[in-house]
Order: sequence, then structure tokens, then C-alpha cells
Amino acid sequence: MHAEVVIIGGGPSGLSAALYLARAGFAPVVFAGDPPGGQLMLTSEVENFPGHKSIHGQELVANIREQAVGFGAKVIDANVEEIIAGEKKDHKILTSYSGYTSVDAKAVLVATGAKALWLGLDSEKRLRGRGVSACATCDGFFFKGKQVAVIGGGDSALEEALFLTKFASHVTIVHRRDTFRASRIMQNRVKAHQKISIEWNAATKDILGSERVDGVLLSYPDGTEKRIDVNGVFVAIGHKPDTDFVKDPILKDKKGYIITKQHIAEKLIFDKEEMLGYGIDLDKLVSQEYYPSSSNVEGIFAAGDCVDYRYRQASTAAGFGVAASLDIEKYIESL
Ligand code: NAP
Repeated sequence: MHAEVVIIGGGPSGLSAALYLARAGFAPVVFAGDPPGGQLMLTSEVENFPGHKSIHGQELVANIREQAVGFGAKVIDANVEEIIAGEKKDHKILTSYSGYTSVDAKAVLVATGAKALWLGLDSEKRLRGRGVSACATCDGFFFKGKQVAVIGGGDSALEEALFLTKFASHVTIVHRRDTFRASRIMQNRVKAHQKISIEWNAATKDILGSERVDGVLLSYPDGTEKRIDVNGVFVAIGHKPDTDFVKDPILKDKKGYIITKQHIAEKLIFDKEEMLGYGIDLDKLVSQEYYPSSSNVEGIFAAGDCVDYRYRQASTAAGFGVAASLDIEKYIESL
């Protein structure tokens, strides 16, 4: 089986890329995952995707998919097991899907997204979408004048806490240690903010509420427990990109995010040590055409939340998917 382009991932990023590539006549094959659709399938209303005042996450994914299929994309609800990176345009995708077990492709786009990490409490699962969220940008608006808690001590948690102060009457950051992992500047902002208080050394034992969240139960190293009244709980303890199947020679960072050329360029400015630690052959990269969404392997591209740990929005994922599709179009034409 041969395809010009194989896209791995059936969320907004992969499907938006598929829409563009299909419309440009490349008839992409999309492995949308099993189950397909990504993080949007777990959200309820999306109110910040441009062009939709309010749309259900599942409907949004279904719409982009229908649009891509309408232009000739082939979308298969199956997972990819392996990418065998070849030279330039000779890449291979392995799946267990009948008829498509081995697909040769000139270009591959990895757009498998990421999953938010959760605490693992039963109450957290039960109350998800009823006061429990993993995205302040998406859901903060629903907590105008309410009290909320943010769990975590990294940059995401502190950024979410600051963002939530625009809506909430008070934000409590719950962190399991006595120092934050986040950058100094974020720590200073949070500590100086009048609407934010911090519960140090506090584990989240339970999220309380029957129909909706009405509190969290915290426990401390000395065995004491405390309830705080909140209407919302934002879990911000990190994300895990879905890239376990992506192996050498395709480069990923320590957390599993795929390193694109744009990443490399950015890191060379801000964190040269880390970038050089990956053993990247910079001379080789500089000799190649610069496609921002390309991985370190020619012909293999990446976009969306499996690359982007910063913005993580459905609309940015879609936008990065579109950008990658334009890179891929140029790349294939150059072959
Ligand atoms: P992170 O840096 O891995 O931080 C996760 C936080 O959650 C840590 O404080 C961790 O506690 C805590 N945590 C983990 N598991 C937990 C559990 N089971 N229970 C309670 N707490 C738990 O993740 P992140 O904040 O999402 O950031 C990911 C990356 O993106 C980082 O490199 C970050 O700098 C970057 N980022 C950058 C920006 C920006 O530049 N604007 C914004 C957001 C994120 P411990 O500290 O005890 O491990």
C-alpha cells in the first residue's frame, strides 16, 4: 500500500492537515486512532474555537473530519504501531489494520496529541466537566465570582492560577511540596497576587460534591486533614504526549514531545545546552530546506499537542496542523 502522505492522529491538528492536503490533491491517509478524536472527545462545550459560538467537542472533531473526507482524505480509526524512518521519501507506517498493515509514504505527519495527567481519584473522574477540569483557558470562564483550586506546582499550574484570577473570586494553589517547580518569575507573580493563596505540602485526598464540585479534602504530612470550599478544581500536574510509538532516529525531548526544527531553532536561542545534549547534527540540518514543522528526519513532520507544550488549544493545534500541511506540500513538490 502506498500513500503520498500518512497522517497519524485524528484530533484537530491531524484532521486540519488532512483537510488542506486533501484539498490540494494529495489524498492523505489518516490513522485517526482507536478510539479516535483526541482530547476534544472528553470536553463538553467548546466556546473558543473561532467561528463557533459554542460547539460540543465531539461535534467539532466530526465536522473537521467530514470536511477532510469530503475533499478526499481517507480516515481510518486505527492506531499506528511503528514508523520506520527511511531516507527522504521512503518511510513506512506499520499498523495492525487489515489492508493497511504496511503503508509506504513520501511524508508522514505525527499529530497524536497529548493527554492531561490526572490525580487518579474516583471523584475526579465522576466530577469531570462538573467542576473538575484540566484546562483553565477552556473552562475558567464558567467560574466567574467562584472560588477555585489549582493542583500542581509547575509552570502550567501557576499560569492557570494567574489566568483564573480574571474570573474567580479566589484561587487556592494546592502543591504537594514546599517549593514550586515553576520558573522564578511565575512564582513571584503568584506569591504577590492578592487573589491567590497557597496550600504547601498538601495532597489532594478527595474532591467533594455530589452533582457538582463543592470542595476539596487536603491531607498534610503530619496526618491532619482540611476541607476547603471551592466550586472548581483545575488539575495541572502535567501532560504526556502520545508518542511512545515514535522511536529513533526521530528525536523527542525528555518528556516525549517531538522535537521539530522550529523547536531546535528556539532552543538554540533559549536553552542551547539542552539542545546540544540531544546530539543533533546541526550542520546536516542547516544544509536541508527549513520546514518549521519537520522533525530531524527529512519527510517526517509533527504538529499539535505532541509537539506543543505551550499553547495546547484546539484552535492552535488546528493551526499548527495547517502549517505542517503547507510544509509537507512544499516538501513533496521539492522531491
Ligand atoms: P511539570 O513541570 O511537570 O509540573 C507538574 C507539577 O505537578 C509539579 O509541580 C509536580 O509536583 C506536580 N505533580 C505531578 N504529579 C502530581 C500528583 N500526582 N499529585 C500532585 N501533584 C503532582 O508540568 P507543567 O507545569 O505542565 O509544565 C510542562 C512543561 O511546559 C515545563 O517544561 C514547563 O516549564 C513548560 N511550560 C511553560 C510555560 C511557559 O513558558 N509559559 C507554561 C506552561 C508550561 P513536583 O514539583 O512535586 O514534582
